[in-house]
Amino acid sequence: MTVNPRLAPFGTTIFAEMSALAVELNAVNLGQGFPDSDGPPEVLDTAIEAIRSGLNQYPPGPGMPVLRHAIAAHQKRFYGVEYDADSEILVTAGATEAIAGALLGLLQADDEVIVFEPMYDSYQACIALAGARAISVVLRPPSYRPDLDAVRRSIGPRTRAILVNSPHNPTGSMFSADEMAAIAAIAAVHNLIIISDEVYEHLVFDGLSHRSMAEYPGARERTLVISSGGKTFRTTGWKIGWVCGPANLVAAARAAKQFLTYVNGGPFQPAIARGLGLPDSYFAEVARDLQDRRNELVPSLEAVGFEVFPSSSTYFVTVDAAPIAPATAGKEFCLRMAREAGVVAIPNEVFYTAENRAVGRSLVRFAFCKRREVIAEACERLGRWKP
Ligand code: PMP
Ligand code: GLN
Repeated sequence: MTVNPRLAPFGTTIFAEMSALAVELNAVNLGQGFPDSDGPPEVLDTAIEAIRSGLNQYPPGPGMPVLRHAIAAHQKRFYGVEYDADSEILVTAGATEAIAGALLGLLQADDEVIVFEPMYDSYQACIALAGARAISVVLRPPSYRPDLDAVRRSIGPRTRAILVNSPHNPTGSMFSADEMAAIAAIAAVHNLIIISDEVYEHLVFDGLSHRSMAEYPGARERTLVISSGGKTFRTTGWKIGWVCGPANLVAAARAAKQFLTYVNGGPFQPAIARGLGLPDSYFAEVARDLQDRRNELVPSLEAVGFEVFPSSSTYFVTVDAAPIAPATAGKEFCLRMAREAGVVAIPNEVFYTAENRAVGRSLVRFAFCKRREVIAEACERLGRWKP
């Protein structure tokens, strides 16, 4: 065994594996969450102009001022929360590095972090890399509501932080305002840091809207809010993310980030700054467009016989495959669907800890952030499939 034992349990990320399989089988890829159409032309043109104008060397460590100011203006505009662009904002290589920087910069060995599972796969790996322990609270279908008493019971003397992800990958569920407020209050009583992954902040449907964790009483001074330009501007390959929070917490994330990537994405930073300043109509349209795609995919999934759980946000919808394939579940089911139906999805078991993997055994995540014709093709293939 050559890999660091802390990383050994995590293997290859399922996203890379399933995307490679989709290419190999020429299958429709509703697995990995990336859009297959380009983002707004203003944003793309700004990156091209930045490259041509020579912005091709290391940007400043905390991120380019134009982007840090745009992030500060965005947080104020959408959430009414003010951040100092110099000391309270850090630009990172995607939200993935923001999560890694926050966890590696803040945690000590044997610290405990409360997480809700299912969860984005990098959380567990980064907590393990830090030598800390994830203490998990399971969110259960169909509604995936957090059990706040279970959260309270999970807190012990080593608990340092709680990691929240709303809007939620892989389910598209959102914590309610009362639940967010309750988590903020629990964190305040127990002096916990809140790490709030809000990457899907603008991808919210059905007339709902996202509020940042930092808006809730007592949260601003203990919360690192994490987001990314990848989802909102359909530029997932640019890897421009950020962290906002009180200066001491941001400094901890920066301390780790400087030795992970040092800096990243020079010419993409002014481009994402341009995106963050787009009018409200842009943000509303992105959400409306994704909502339409969700509405196209869901009836086809129901027609196949999946039990479909409600998704009101993100790129994703989670289904239970048990009604159509009680004997084949998890990754095996997804491999079979890829080979037989030509449609790739993600087995939700990868979003659980080893102890709770059985909870996600028959659940599967489909991404609807794809072009209409791609979704239509997937629906047609699934319609023909006899599982
Ligand atoms: N958090 C969640 C919940 C995600 O789904 C993703 C998607 N990749 C990320 C973080 C990482 O974002 P980025 O691509 O900006 O690193
Ligand atoms: N967040 C995206 C997903 O959940 C992609 C993540 C990745 O490729 N690491 O599909």
